[in-house]
Amino acid sequence: MKTSSFENFPWWMVVVCNAVGLAVYAIGLYLMVRLGIVWGVLYAAYCLWMEWRLLSGSCRHCYYYGKRCGFGKGRVCSWFLARKAEQGLGAKPISWRDLIPDFLVSLIPLGFGIAMLIRGFSWLVLLLIVILAFLGSVGTGLIRGRLACQYCKQREIGCPAQQLFSKTSQA
Ligand code: SF4
Repeated sequence: MKTSSFENFPWWMVVVCNAVGLAVYAIGLYLMVRLGIVWGVLYAAYCLWMEWRLLSGSCRHCYYYGKRCGFGKGRVCSWFLARKAEQGLGAKPISWRDLIPDFLVSLIPLGFGIAMLIRGFSWLVLLLIVILAFLGSVGTGLIRGRLACQYCKQREIGCPAQQLFSKTSQA
C-alpha cells in the first residue's frame, strides 16, 4: 500500500466511500420494510446503533478525530463526543468477533430477502439482494482497500482493523 496519506481526505473520496455504505443501509431498510414496518424500524435502529458504536468506540480515539477521514466521521464525531486521546485507536486490538455486528448490517436483510424470495419470487427483491451482496462484500472491500485505508494516516500509525486483515491474509 502507498505510504502517502491525507491530513483531510478530498470531498469526492468522502462522497464515494459513504455512497457505498448508505446504499447498503437503503437497500437493507427497503427489504426489511417490505417484510413489515416493525422490522424496518428495528433495522434502522440497529444501523443507528452501529454508527454510534463506531463514533464512540473508534472515531474518538482516532487520528482523524475532528478531521475529514475517508468517511468524514472524524469530523462528525467531534460535533458530539469529546476526544479520548489517552488511548489511541492503534492500542485497541480487535478480533473477527468484534466485526460480526458490521457484517450483520448486510447479512440480516440478505437473509430475510432470500426468505422472501422462497416465499414468493420477485425480480426486484432478487436484483436488490444481488446488489446488496456485491456492495456488502466487493464494494466495501474496494472503497476501503483503494480509498479509505490506502490514504489513511491512522493505518500508518497503527489501525486494529488493518492489523487484523493483514494478519489473516498472511496466515
Ligand atoms: S478513519 Fe475510521 S475510526 Fe478514524 S475517524 Fe474515520 S471512520 Fe472513525
